[in-house]
Amino acid sequence: MRFSKKAILAELAKLYPDAGPELNFTNPYETLVAVMLSAQCTDKMVNKVTPAVFARYPDVASMAAATVEELHPMVKSCGFKSKANNIIETCRLLMLRHGGEVPRTMEELTALPGVGRKTANVVMSNAFGIPAIAVDTHVFRVSNRLGLAEADDVLKTELQLQKAIPKADWLDFHHRLILHGRRVCKAQRPLCAECTMQEMCKARRAQQRANKDME
Ligand code: SF4
Repeated sequence: MRFSKKAILAELAKLYPDAGPELNFTNPYETLVAVMLSAQCTDKMVNKVTPAVFARYPDVASMAAATVEELHPMVKSCGFKSKANNIIETCRLLMLRHGGEVPRTMEELTALPGVGRKTANVVMSNAFGIPAIAVDTHVFRVSNRLGLAEADDVLKTELQLQKAIPKADWLDFHHRLILHGRRVCKAQRPLCAECTMQEMCKARRAQQRANKDME
């Protein structure tokens, strides 16, 4: 039996009606810094360090004047020293190129150090409400397992999802897929037996067919 993308979107909406960003931020500058810190780090950990960071460096100008020696100790629980370096360099470039504002386009955002396509998409959608689908490890894995995308890299996945999902749903879809990936469709051991989308899921159906062939 084939299920439509519409059915999958409806089930995701039913499962996670209030899904939203788990990072804490209040403006585009804070969004950018929080997302840069979140690479290969949990949102929970980022939320622990950002209150002190934003209290000491409340805007782009103050962060542009920071030194790595000052910032790194405050954010080192989020990983590499390069994160502190990239955040400061990015803010210096925002002062030079954008009058201290965070730009709104993919091209301008990805020209900043440490800002890749995923970070840019999160900033565009969460800070400015611009429709975008950020493909992180959860979105990549779950969308390909469900059959919403059929791609071996994140860029192809993003482009396929843009075609498959109505633009108005992109932001909610992104947050819902992340929650499903964290809670149910885990990387190593997906909880398929508990998943309410197992009949709609391409990977699950393929697994069941393979099991049957072996009987
Ligand atoms: S059935 Fe399994 S693989 Fe498919 S979405 Fe659910 S948990 Fe993931």
